[in-house]
Amino acid sequence: MRWSNPLLLVGTSGLGLLSLWYSLVPVYEWAPRQPFTGHCWYNPFAHAPLVWTRANFHIHTRTWGGLTKGYQEAPTIQRAYRRLGYAWIGLSDYQRINPASPLPLYEHGWNLGKVHQLCFWPRRVVWWDFPLSQTLAMRQFVLERLRPVTGFLVLAHPRFMRSYTGSHLAQLGGYEAIEVLNRFGDSVAEWDSALSSGHFAPILAHDNVHDVENPHQLMSRWTEVLLPEEAPVESLRAALVEGRTVGYKNRTPFPIQGPYPRLQQVEIVGETLLRVRLTLVADSLRLIGQEGRIRRVVYRTDSLTYAIRPDDTYLRFEAYTAQVELYASPLVRGGPKRRGIPPRRPLPSIQGLMAWLFGAFWLLVSLRLWQKRQTKAGYTTRSTA
Ligand SMILES: [Zn+2]
Repeated sequence: MRWSNPLLLVGTSGLGLLSLWYSLVPVYEWAPRQPFTGHCWYNPFAHAPLVWTRANFHIHTRTWGGLTKGYQEAPTIQRAYRRLGYAWIGLSDYQRINPASPLPLYEHGWNLGKVHQLCFWPRRVVWWDFPLSQTLAMRQFVLERLRPVTGFLVLAHPRFMRSYTGSHLAQLGGYEAIEVLNRFGDSVAEWDSALSSGHFAPILAHDNVHDVENPHQLMSRWTEVLLPEEAPVESLRAALVEGRTVGYKNRTPFPIQGPYPRLQQVEIVGETLLRVRLTLVADSLRLIGQEGRIRRVVYRTDSLTYAIRPDDTYLRFEAYTAQVELYASPLVRGGPKRRGIPPRRPLPSIQGLMAWLFGAFWLLVSLRLWQKRQTKAGYTTRSTA
């Protein structure tokens, strides 16, 4: 049939180009898991007194002609969050740095599996991605492309469509933080996997709001940063990198109006005793350690004391009330170390080679189809002249 030829040509050449694109993924030398070790503890909350301000860095505005389902413009969004007392907000449009955002930010990723990253203080927007399914190496390769042009790189919503699993997070490197709490999925187990493998990943928590007029989307999750409201925006990056953050999850369907517990004191005495105090009594407080294991639980109190065990590698604190859940960034042994981008092996992988051959084959097929079409067109022109 006449219409089938151009369709076939587009199909075969598309398949060929996509396969060549996928064949570019290198083979990485993955490092074994190295849980945190060392005598001294790193405590991001050691600076007393603890002064907290509210933040949301995952907000979608109306952009790309409405394709990405953002419903409002920047001023409406900013007013909504100011009313709720937020000190820091960032507009995170897909593949676009919104000039109206108080800090430069965008959400990277245009693949079917929702493997996304929040790119803070980017030098430019990176368009590299793998649009279909992604292997661990492809996920790492995208982070490798983002790393040199991104000031603070965050893995977005790992649980959402299993975009990053616990085993991915036990190996990936080159990023600074994890968006543990997100309206589209909370990723606490995945976070523990990254921490248990010895990668210092502070928590971020966000609404991932698309419509600020919907009260169920506002203040469903949020981050509190250990910074006074009047602090310059330049100090925000240091606070995020150093892990001076707490994530909150709202257990009610509307923005929280009344008071809720905040961290008042977190101290390590003599490297062997941890003391945590909240501003209000909570129903329960929990301490979590290596492999996500519960180290201690106390009920109906505002404080927790824990004798640190020699095999504790990291410790993170949770608190629960009827209204909120609180998740603090971890305290770690030896310092806030992070895995970098792993080194590459010099040779391509078998899969890469196969993808290259597959791509070359389909490009040759499409070239042959095009030649055939040209010959036929020439013949038709001559015969009708
Ligand atoms: Zn996303």
